[in-house]
Amino acid sequence: NEPLSVVDPEIAAVLEQELGRQRDYLEMIASENFVPRAVLESQGSVLTNKYAEGYPGRRYYGGCEFVDVAENLAIERAKSLFGADFANVQPHSGAQANAAVLAALADIGDTILGLELSHGGHLTHGMKLNFSGKMYKAVAYEVDPETYLIDMDVVRRQAIEHKPKVIIAGWSAYPRQLDFEAFRAIADEVGAYLWVDMAHFAGLVAAGLHPSPVPHAHVVSSTVHKTLAGPRSGVILSNHEPLFKKLNSAVFPGQQGGPLMHVIAAKATAFKLAAEPEFKDRQERTIRGAQLLAARLTAPDAKAAGIDVLTGGTDVHLVLVDLRASEVDGKQAENLLHDVGITVNRNSVPWDPRPPMVTSGVRIGTSALATRGFDDAEFTEVADIIGLALMPDPDIAALAARVKALTDAFPLYA
Ligand code: PLP
Repeated sequence: NEPLSVVDPEIAAVLEQELGRQRDYLEMIASENFVPRAVLESQGSVLTNKYAEGYPGRRYYGGCEFVDVAENLAIERAKSLFGADFANVQPHSGAQANAAVLAALADIGDTILGLELSHGGHLTHGMKLNFSGKMYKAVAYEVDPETYLIDMDVVRRQAIEHKPKVIIAGWSAYPRQLDFEAFRAIADEVGAYLWVDMAHFAGLVAAGLHPSPVPHAHVVSSTVHKTLAGPRSGVILSNHEPLFKKLNSAVFPGQQGGPLMHVIAAKATAFKLAAEPEFKDRQERTIRGAQLLAARLTAPDAKAAGIDVLTGGTDVHLVLVDLRASEVDGKQAENLLHDVGITVNRNSVPWDPRPPMVTSGVRIGTSALATRGFDDAEFTEVADIIGLALMPDPDIAALAARVKALTDAFPLYA
């Protein structure tokens, strides 16, 4: 029982270096966050040793009396946080939650309708190389070419034309709120299930800062590790009673074997924390931070440099920077920001003229920095650093010094 540094110094070094990277860079990948110590503790605990196939009280293994407590807490907290009658907290990831949802709602070969991947949708919503595109007949709705918003008339037309079994609302890169009521009305009109994947905005929903899809959708899935700030994993919610059993059996035994009990315990803690006032404050700072960033990147000097923001702003935790008119492409922007100490990912914009490995966009999120403690003053500073980094002839060293002042002032995992 030697420590990691003795058993495997190479991996111990990776952990140390990664901690250093997280401390020294400003983390602005929209799907990332920092989990609290309490969550790390469960994930690094003896619960990882336990097999617990089945559900609390109905396991296929002995010795589940304590992990049952953890899973029941996670289920009850998820239900209470989101106002749902049903929660399955076993999915190992968002993609696995989504695979289970589709298995419960559709048969292989059925038509599913989701947001086009290059317009902000997710792989699991019907991308052709993903299980969702291979096992189901996937059709997509696109954003409006003028406004870059989802147009519910377009969704309705597509739904009437293709008669999908499942309509998917949810996104990985879209800066505005969705109209869940309108989605449900369309689903009802064509006899489809409405599935909402709130992976990105679940934390905003939990804080009451974004409309909840739970009252409108037949099923809601989510990751727990983005705005929700819990362990990497998934969760499925529903208020549609006829689906509860189907959803459970689609997760186990349909998609998974033994649940990750250490992660489920960590989810329970994350759901507990997400119900507290501090969490709401953090999500408010997250949204304000994204709005400050959008404002900076649409200022006259940014516009003059060919920088813009899709939809002109944001209601959520991310901004989609549009670099189609800029000399700097998405890949160069990602690298420039890395050079000043900011981590983001390049992202295709709808109808992107540049290839997918280059792109004309950057997706920038504010969740992790809000967790780090940033408020309006810091986000204003970050927004200015980003704006200047993307403009002609940036002074990288000066901008890196400004980043360092911020990371020094907000120590991480101190
Ligand atoms: N759904 C959406 C909307 C996502 O953005 C993501 C992650 O990027 C997922 C599902 C998949 O989550 P995971 O990476 O945990 O499989």
